[in-house]
Amino acid sequence: MPQFKFFEQVNKNFDKASQYTKHDSGLLDQIKICNSVYHITFPLRRDNGDIEVIHAWRAEHSNHKQPTKGGVRYSYTVSEDEITALSALMTYKCAVVDVPFGGAKGGVKIHRKNYSKSEIERITRRYTYELNKKNYIGPGVDVPAPDYGTSETEMSWILDTYNALNTGLDNEGCVTGKPIAEGGVHGRTEATGRGVFYGIQEACNNKEDMKMLNLNHGLEGKTVIIQGLGNVGTYSAKFLQKGGAKIIGIAEIEGGIYDPGGIDIDKLLEFREDTGSILDFDDAKNIKPSSKTLEMECDILVPAALENQITEDNAQNIQAKIIAEAANGPTTSSAHDILKKRGCLIIPDHYLNAGGVTVSYFEWLKNLSHVRFGRLDKRFEENAFKRIVEAIESVSGKKFTQEQINMLSHGASEEDIVESGLEETMVVAYNEINEIRKKHDVDLRTAAYISAINKIAQAYEQLGIFP
Ligand code: NAD
Repeated sequence: MPQFKFFEQVNKNFDKASQYTKHDSGLLDQIKICNSVYHITFPLRRDNGDIEVIHAWRAEHSNHKQPTKGGVRYSYTVSEDEITALSALMTYKCAVVDVPFGGAKGGVKIHRKNYSKSEIERITRRYTYELNKKNYIGPGVDVPAPDYGTSETEMSWILDTYNALNTGLDNEGCVTGKPIAEGGVHGRTEATGRGVFYGIQEACNNKEDMKMLNLNHGLEGKTVIIQGLGNVGTYSAKFLQKGGAKIIGIAEIEGGIYDPGGIDIDKLLEFREDTGSILDFDDAKNIKPSSKTLEMECDILVPAALENQITEDNAQNIQAKIIAEAANGPTTSSAHDILKKRGCLIIPDHYLNAGGVTVSYFEWLKNLSHVRFGRLDKRFEENAFKRIVEAIESVSGKKFTQEQINMLSHGASEEDIVESGLEETMVVAYNEINEIRKKHDVDLRTAAYISAINKIAQAYEQLGIFP
């Protein structure tokens, strides 16, 4: 197996797209290359007294914008290749949705479930200490966030460790995805899943595409299978279900479930909380091995677990007409070609899961501005709306109900602002890549890469490094 398989896949997509641009080949090489990778090893004293060497990485793919930004994952799949590839995807992702960061990614190679909470805390704090030592973390340098196997708890340990090592007014901006009480922003936890929903909805609202796929226009009634019921998969499922789609299959590590009649996602989450598994839920059929769930009949398949899940080995058997890449790198390039030949619409990862980094950007802005979104203008807006309502009442001679007044005079809260900023970002970016797709007669993945390459090249040109 080649050493840099995943990074090679990303670069293959980059090369395919770069043919549709007119940039100097040296500039394209600079955009593509990973600027720096830091491999860290440190000892962990286990709870039983044993000492174990932990391997961890942080890759900063592109410094064309400051800071660099990207999640930290805890997984046994973590390697230099994986982290480098994911950092490159972060660069392209940020460019596609106009988030002004370079791409980065971090990872710790552990089977998370084999470690106690206090061991995870010691690993997280030591990892942060090592990043800090080499200037790989800071609000203006490199800003981690949650990813596979991490959550707001790890982010809060990262902030606390950074605070212990540095004094600075803007320290809170050294990491995003934090708890609200520690400078987090409302809506970050569900942001990636919400963004996945907006992206899929936008695709389903495209009449030409739906006609070509022989599907009805809109999300209503579309059947969905999701792989991975973690942060991204859970919130994608919740928002898709609320938006009118029918979840009919879920794949998790222990196996999959399938029910063409529909799976109530909230009930399933409660059931898993009680039993520790998604198997044997209601009338759903158990599917083993779990990967077979991806091959069941549905309109939309949402891989939301890890990379390399749709390969040339199973691509032929996949029946979904839309592949919505919520995970990073779930489809290999040969699988992509097989699906494309079959006429599938593939909504690419570095567009579709960009909701997380978009709301992380909002959190970072909140931390640097030291003020909650909506704090300055919510009341002002509400009072202005109330005056309009009163004016309408006095001109028309009719009275609104209290419920109508409350609805009409509602000022935007932090959550409202984050939500609308995310929707705007996902909708604008979809239409931007769709235009590029039509112009060059390419697929959405290639179009999203073309969009990213052009924006990064422009940023380099503005820096004046390449006259
Ligand atoms: P998570 O750890 O919260 O959840 C991942 C889930 O996938 C877990 O429930 C796990 O049991 C399941 N899983 C793992 N391997 C599986 C397999 N082979 N089959 C079925 N299920 C499997 O991780 P997450 O944060 O939801 O991340 C999922 C993907 O989304 C990753 O590729 C990540 O890089 C990407 N992503 C995450 C975010 C974010 O904000 N968390 C943002 C952008 C992209």
